[in-house]
Amino acid sequence: MTNIHYDLIAIGGGSGGLSVAERAAAYGKRCAVVERGRLGGTCVNVGCVPKKVMWYGTSLAHALHEARDYGFEVEQKGFSWNDLVLKREAYIGGINGWYHTYLEDSGIDELAGHARFVDAHTLEIDDRRYTADHIVVSTGGRPAVPDIEGAELGITSDGFFELTEQPRNVAVVGAGYIAVELAGLLHGLGSQVSMYLRREHFLRSFDAMLRESLMEQMLEDGVNIFPRTQVQQVVRAEDGTLSLVCDQGMRTDGFDCVIWAIGRDPNTDDIGLDRAGVIRDGHGFVPVDGFQNTNVAGIYALGDITGRAPLTPVAIAAGRRLADRLFGGKPERRLDYENIPSVVFSHPPIGTVGLTEDEARELHGEGVKIYQTRFTPMYHALTERKVKTAMKLVTVGAREKVVGCHIIGPGADEMLQGFAVAIRMGATKQDLDDTVALHPTSAEELVTMR
Ligand code: FAD
Ligand code: NDP
Repeated sequence: MTNIHYDLIAIGGGSGGLSVAERAAAYGKRCAVVERGRLGGTCVNVGCVPKKVMWYGTSLAHALHEARDYGFEVEQKGFSWNDLVLKREAYIGGINGWYHTYLEDSGIDELAGHARFVDAHTLEIDDRRYTADHIVVSTGGRPAVPDIEGAELGITSDGFFELTEQPRNVAVVGAGYIAVELAGLLHGLGSQVSMYLRREHFLRSFDAMLRESLMEQMLEDGVNIFPRTQVQQVVRAEDGTLSLVCDQGMRTDGFDCVIWAIGRDPNTDDIGLDRAGVIRDGHGFVPVDGFQNTNVAGIYALGDITGRAPLTPVAIAAGRRLADRLFGGKPERRLDYENIPSVVFSHPPIGTVGLTEDEARELHGEGVKIYQTRFTPMYHALTERKVKTAMKLVTVGAREKVVGCHIIGPGADEMLQGFAVAIRMGATKQDLDDTVALHPTSAEELVTMR
C-alpha cells in the first residue's frame, strides 16, 4: 500500500478534472488526475469531438449535392462510413496521447483506475491509497437507457460511436441535443431516420422559433418525426430487424438500429460519496453552491455531475475558476452560470444564449420587445434544397437591453460567440444598431433588425 499526499486530486480525466488540475499545477501545487478510461472524458471520446467530425461529414454531403447548383459536374460515387470512423478515431487517439504528454509535462500525476472515497481526504484506487487536501469530483455521466422490455436491443450515443457500418434505417428515441444531432447527421449521410418524441416538440427548453424552424427543416428534408409517441417495447424480428411497439397501438418495423437519446445519468453511484459524507440529490447529482463546494469542506464537484449546464466549456471554466480561488489568491473567483451560450449541431445548426421569449415574458411581462427575422441566406438562393435562417433578439425595458439571442441557420454555430460577449457586457439594441454591418453575410441581420 502506498500513500502519497497531494494538494489536489481530481477524480475524472474529462473536461472538468483535467482543467482544475492543470490550473492548480500552474500555481505550483502537487496534483493528480484519476481516470478509469480514456483521458479527455466524454467530450473527446464519445461526445463533442467525434460528433463534430460526423457533423462535418454530413455538411460535406449536403455541399456535394449543392455543388451541382453552382455549376459543378459532381458525381457522388459513394461514402465509406468506416473510412470516416477510422480517421475520426485516429484523430481522437492523437488527442488522448497528447493529454498523457501534457499531464507529464505539467507535472501532474496520472492515476489510472477507478477511484472511491475511503473518507473525506482519502481515495482508494484498486489497492492503492492517496490523500489530498482538496478532492474534486468530476466523474461525468453516462447515457440513460429506458426501463422497458427489449431496451438492450438499442444502443446509446456511446454505441453510435462504435458503429463501423452505417445503419440504413434508424429510430432515434428522445428529444434533446443528442437526439436532434444524431438524427440530422445520420439523415444527411443517407440513412432513413425516424424520431420518436414523447411530447409535442423536441428541444423543449429552447426558444419556440428555434425548435419550430428546425422541425420544419427536418420534416422537409425527409426525417420522420413522431410526436407524442412513447416507445414501450423493442422486439427483434426473425429477419434480424427491430420493431418499436409504441403507445396507442402503434408499431413500426424494419429498423436496423435503435438509438436511445433520452438524457444522461451522473456517475456518482460507485465512488463512495457516502463514506465521505457528500450528499446527492434524488437523481444522483451532487449539489454545489456558487463556488462548486459540496456539503463537505475540501470536496468540490464540477461539470455534468452537478446537473447544471452539462457542457464542456462550463466544466472547463468551473474547474479553472475553482483552482484560481483555492490557489491563486482570488477568493471570489467563480463561474457565473447566467448567459451561457450553447450550440446545437443540427442541420442547420442552432446558436442560443440568454432568455427565450417565453422566459423573458414570464419575468418581465410588458417590458419585453422582440425583434425577429426569417430569410433564405444568399448561398441557398441558388440551391434547390432551401435552408432558412431565423433570428430573434429578446430585449427588455426602455433601453432595450438584449437578454436573449437565438439563431438557426447555416453559420449560426460560428456566429453566436461574439454576440454572447456583447450580451454578457449588457449590450442594448441600440449598441447592435450602432455596429457597422458585415456585408454580405447572414450575421449582419443581427445588427440591422427592425
Ligand atoms: P466527463 O467528460 O464525462 O469526464 C468524466 C471522466 O471521469 C470520464 O473520463 C470517466 O471515465 C471518469 N470517471 C468516472 N468515474 C470515475 C471514477 N470513479 N474513477 C476514475 N475516473 C472516473 N458539450 C459541448 O459543450 N459541446 C458539444 O458539442 C457537446 N456534444 C456532446 C455530444 C455527446 C454525444 C455527448 C454525450 C455530450 C456532449 N457534450 C457537448 C457534453 C460534454 O461532453 C460534457 O458536458 C463534458 O464532457 C462534461 O465534462 P465532465 O468533466 O463533467 O465529465
Ligand atoms: P437532454 O437533456 O438534452 O434531452 C433529453 C431528452 O430526452 C429530453 O428532451 C426528454 O424529453 C427526453 N426523454 C427523457 N426521458 C425520455 C423517455 N423515457 N422517453 C422519451 N424521451 C425521453 O439530453 P441529451 O442526452 O440529449 O444530452 C445530454 C446533455 O449533453 C445535454 O443537455 C447537453 O447539455 C449536452 N450536450 C450538448 C451538446 C452540444 O453542446 N451541442 C450536444 C449533445 C449533448 P422531454 O423534452 O419530452 O422531456
